This record gives sequence, structure tokens and C-alpha cells, in this order.
Amino acid sequence: MKNTSSSTISDDSTIVAIATPIGIGAISIVRLSGQNAYNITLSLTHKTKLTPRYAHLCDIYDHADSMLDEAIVLFFPKPHSYTMQDVCEIQCHGGIVSAKAIVQECLRQGARLATAGEFTKRAFLNGRLDLSQTQAIAHIIQSQSLQANKFLARQLKGELGQFVEKIRQKLLEILAFSEVNIDYSEEIEEDYIHIMEHKLRDIQTELEKIYTLSRTRQGLIEGYRLSIVGKPNVGKSSFLNKILMYDRAIISPVAGTTRDTIEESIDIGGNIVRIIDTAGIHDSQDEIEQIGIAKSKEAIERSDIVLAVFDASQILDEQDKAMIEILDSQCQDKWLLVLVNKSDLPIKCDENVLISILSSHPKAISKTPLFISAQNGEIKEVLKILENVLMQNDAGDSLLLTSTYQIQCVQKAIAHLQDAHTMLQKQELELFSYHIRDSIESICQITRPYETSELLDQLFSEFCLGK
Ligand code: GDP
Repeated sequence: MKNTSSSTISDDSTIVAIATPIGIGAISIVRLSGQNAYNITLSLTHKTKLTPRYAHLCDIYDHADSMLDEAIVLFFPKPHSYTMQDVCEIQCHGGIVSAKAIVQECLRQGARLATAGEFTKRAFLNGRLDLSQTQAIAHIIQSQSLQANKFLARQLKGELGQFVEKIRQKLLEILAFSEVNIDYSEEIEEDYIHIMEHKLRDIQTELEKIYTLSRTRQGLIEGYRLSIVGKPNVGKSSFLNKILMYDRAIISPVAGTTRDTIEESIDIGGNIVRIIDTAGIHDSQDEIEQIGIAKSKEAIERSDIVLAVFDASQILDEQDKAMIEILDSQCQDKWLLVLVNKSDLPIKCDENVLISILSSHPKAISKTPLFISAQNGEIKEVLKILENVLMQNDAGDSLLLTSTYQIQCVQKAIAHLQDAHTMLQKQELELFSYHIRDSIESICQITRPYETSELLDQLFSEFCLGK
């Protein structure tokens, strides 16, 4: 969705960056944007003219007329470009040497190095993209899951922007009514108040729906967090190793965001599942059993999915009972799957005790425990069950907020609507208008925030160079 109402126009100085990752590859792309992008590119290619949006095969020369590389060169004249400024892209040979030499020549001719996200920031400031679209781009670049990409692609096409605009229009209508009647509060007919209340409630319901759906589906975008808990020696590590080996082709280590450990991520049915590494959770107390329980508690708290492991070859002991108590008291809002490991050994564990916690658990994935043997590699069934659960959590064609920032904006908008509702009931139209305005401001933060500079600097700094 294009928004041309932006009050801020971006800087038109010429910026340059390598837009592709540093490393060995077939091509590297050098990107230029700004008032001298075209002239600098003509000078590098020794051309007098470039046809817009046409792939030219050109030789690239340095300032001493020495040939640097052969490249495909594209010119996107303003305003029909990513930044709405003149943009040139030089697709040179891969590796880093050619691209670096071309950037050096651009700098020599007056361009400056772009900062992280500066191309996209210009696209935003010039009204080519709204903030929800720029965030979609940032997340697509970092995304590791196909499911996430599908939602982000829709956001990039402006779906969320259109939703925000629709809510804004409805709120503006209500605001206009209030402003017109502000001086005649006592004379407003009851019917009008009811109509306004009705409209307000409809908007609130619409916002609450997207808010709740997005909160429960955050895992679709950010990855689901899974913990494997149980007392020491039940086979948690053996099970984890088996999963990782099974999924070796697609495992990627991702730096933990909340602590200094490496989190393993696996792909289950196109969803990213981050395994919370309980080994990274420390507890200062010495007793081994206490450490086991403390680690499990902390891991459960941070999880969407809990895999609780028990030992089939042992009678359930005090530590197991403590674990069952935790599952019962702290795990009610998590998906729970109970695994009984070492089923290759004679079975002594009392299955009925485990069935009884599962029968009353609201998010039990299976109402009976699953007997497995991590040692014999019997874990396929567990992965299949998890895949089904995640598949059912798909949001289908529903609109989703894809970042915590967007969720917070909607949360604030709902809170202001609740305050507005209270004021409407008291027929305090001035305060009613005030809260409606706040609600409009909160929802518009998703696409075009008011207090731009600081917030934007922070949001765009998350991008990579050349984007
Ligand atoms: P953790 O402390 O819960 O992580 O347990 P480990 O994965 O370290 O396993 C503890 C012990 O149980 C090790 O000696 C494993 O070889 C053994 N073990 C793990 N899984 C199985 C299994 O399915 N069957 C049998 N017989 N032994 C297992």
C-alpha cells in the first residue's frame, strides 16, 4: 500500500552498500540510491545513458580507466524505485573483491556508505512503504521458517496497513461525531449514545480478535519454544540428540536472545522450534535433585511446548512426583506431551499416575503417555505428533500481527477504547474524544508513527546493510 501523506522526505544524498552477504557466491550486488546514483554509475560503466529497468551488460572501470569487472547494471529512475529516488544496482561477480572495489569507486565519486537499513528507511520516509511493510521485510530477511514467510509476505503486500486504515477511518467517524456534539452533551439523544457504543464495541471486538489470535500464534513467526524436562538420567539428552541427528540437515544454531548460550532450532513441518537448553540454566543450590527441578521449572516458564520425560524402568519416585506437581501447577497454558523413555527395559513406571495428570490438563497433546526408547531411536512418532499440533495452530488466512511491537500497539489501542467507552457512558464527550484520539494514535503506530525519529532509528537499526 502506498502512502504519500508522509510529512518527512528523506535525505537525497547518494548512498552505496553491498546488498548481498559477504562470502563466496555467483554474484554480489552493489546498490546506490540518491541524487548522484545515476551519474556515478554512468561514470563507472563509461556509458552515456542507461535505459530504465533494462539489464545492461557493462564493463566496470575504476578512476584510472582500468577494468574492474563485467557486470549487469540496472537503473531505476525516481520515483519508481525501492527508495523513490534514483537507484542503480550493479550485479558484479561474487566473492568480495569486485564488489568492494566498486564501492570504493562510488565513494571516490562522492557517495557515502549507507547505514544499516538506510535504503528501507528512505523507502518509508518517502512514502513507498509503511512501517508494517518495512518490518515485514526485516523479518523475511531473518526468517527461518516457511510458515512465517507466508504471513510476512502478506504483510509486505499491505494487508496489515489496510486493516489499520480501516480501523482508523471508523474511529475518525466516531471522533467527528463527538467533536460536533461536544458542546451539546446534555442534549444528545440516548439513541445516539447507543449507536456510538455499538460502533465502539464492534471496533474493540475486531481489535481483540486480532490481538488474541496474534498472541497465541507468535510462535508461527518467532519460532515455538520447546523444553525437555524431567529428573536427571531419564534420557533427556539422549532424546534431544536423537531429534537433532534426525533433523541434522536443517538444524541451525541461533544465538540465544535472552542469555549467552546457543539454542538449537529444528524444523517441524515448516515451523521453527527452538529447543530451550536446560543445561544453560543454572541454579546455585548443590542438591542434584533440586537442580533438576529448578532447571525444569525455569524451562517450563519459557516454553510453548513441554516434553516431560519419565523413566519406564523405574518406579516413580519423589523427584518424579515433584515434577508431576510442577506440570500440574505451572504448565496449564503450555502444550504438554509426556514421554516414558527406556521402554526397551522392563517397565516399572506406573502409567496410571501419568494418565491422571494428562486427563485434566487443558493442553495435553495426548491423553496418554507415549512410550519411547531414545536409545533405539524411536522418536519419529513424537515428531509426527508435534507436527500435527503445530499444524492445527496455523492461523490460515487470518490477519496476524507479526511483531511484539505491533501487538503492543493494538493492546494500547484497546485500552484507550475501554477508557473512551467509560467516558461515553458518562456522556463526557471531551474526554471521550481524547481517548479516541489516543486510540487512533496507538493503532497508527503500526504503519506510520507520530514520534518518528527516535523510534525509527531504533527500528531500522535492526536491518542489514544494503537493505
Ligand atoms: P538425562 O540426564 O535425562 O539427560 O539422561 P541421559 O540422556 O544422559 O541418559 C541417562 C542414561 O540413560 C544414559 O546412560 C543413557 O545411555 C541411558 N538411556 C537414555 N535413553 C535410554 C533408552 O531409551 N533406553 C535405555 N536402556 N537407556 C537409555
